[in-house]
Amino acid sequence: TRTSVTVIGLGLMGRALAAAFLRAGHSTTVWNRTAGKADELVAEGARVAPTVGDAVEASPLTIICLTDYDAVRGLLGGDDADLTGATLVNLTSGTSAQAREAARWADLRGARYLDGAIMAVPPAIGTAEAVILHSGPRADFEAHEPVLGALGTVTHLGEDHGLASLYDAGGLVMMWSVLNGWLQGTALLRTAGVDAVTYAPFARQLAAGVADWLPGYAEQIDRNSYPAEVSALETDVRAMEHLIEESEAAGINTDLPKLLKATADRAIAAGHGGDQYPVLITQFTTPTP
Ligand code: NDP
Repeated sequence: TRTSVTVIGLGLMGRALAAAFLRAGHSTTVWNRTAGKADELVAEGARVAPTVGDAVEASPLTIICLTDYDAVRGLLGGDDADLTGATLVNLTSGTSAQAREAARWADLRGARYLDGAIMAVPPAIGTAEAVILHSGPRADFEAHEPVLGALGTVTHLGEDHGLASLYDAGGLVMMWSVLNGWLQGTALLRTAGVDAVTYAPFARQLAAGVADWLPGYAEQIDRNSYPAEVSALETDVRAMEHLIEESEAAGINTDLPKLLKATADRAIAAGHGGDQYPVLITQFTTPTP
C-alpha cells in the first residue's frame, strides 16, 4: 500500500534512503539544508518540503539521516519544536548515550522515537543485503515496519533506545578485528611470495570456522565457566609467541600480535592459564589497565 514518508538529510546515505522509498512506491517528502541535493529525487517523484517543520508534518513517519546527533538536535530538538504526533526514526550514527538522550528530547516534544543504525553502504540500500537495526518501543517499530522494509532487512532489537548503536559498535569491532587479522596474515604470507588472492580463500575458510565456535564459547561466558575442552589459554599463548617471532623475523608490524599476547598474559597472570580462550572476557569487561 502507498504510504507517505519523510526523509530529512540528503547526504550520500539520505539520498539512497529516499530513492529506495520512491522505488517502493511510497509518497516521499524530503528536506535538506543544502536544497540542491534534492534535485535528482524530485525528478524521481519526491516532494520537497519548504521547512523542516513542514517535512515532519507531511508524513506519519520521518526518517532522519544527518552527519551526527548534534546536527539532529540542532535541527529538531529546539525548545520551540513541536513534533506532536510524529514518529521519528533516527538513522544517524552515534553512541547509545546519544540515542537515549535523543529519545528523551523527542518525547518531551511530543514525538514517538525509534533509534536506528545502518550497517550497509548507500548502493546496498533497498536490497536485502542492507541490514538496518532499530531499537525503541516495539509497537512503533511494528506500526512502520512495512514502510521501513523498503530500505532493506530491518530488525527490532529491543525497547532500550541504545541497543541499535551498541549492536552497530559490536558489529564494527568484529568487522575490523577480522579484517586486521587477515591483513596481518596477508603481510606474513607476502614475505614468502604468496599473494593476497592466494591466501584469501584459506583465510575465508578459517574465519568461517572460527565463527562456528561463537555459540559454544558464548555459553561458557554466560555460565562464567571455562573448562579447557579443546585447548588451554597457555597453549594459545605459545602460538602467539610464534606469531610475534614470525612477524619480527619477516620485518613486518607486530602491534596486533603483541596486543593479543598482552591481553592473554594478563589473564594468565590472574590464574586463567588452564582455562579456555573465552575466559579472556574478563579482560574485556574491565577498563584497560
Ligand atoms: P554525508 O556527509 O553525505 O551527509 C551528511 C548530511 O547531514 C547532509 O545532508 C548534510 O546537509 C546534513 N547535515 C550535517 N550537519 C547538518 C546541520 N548542522 N544541519 C542540517 N543538516 C546537516 O553523510 P552520509 O549521508 O554518508 O551519512 C549520514 C549518516 O549515515 C552518518 O551518521 C553516517 O555515519 C551514517 N552512515 C553512512 C554510511 C555510508 O556508507 N555513507 C554507512 C552507514 C551509516 P548538507 O547537504 O546541507 O551538508
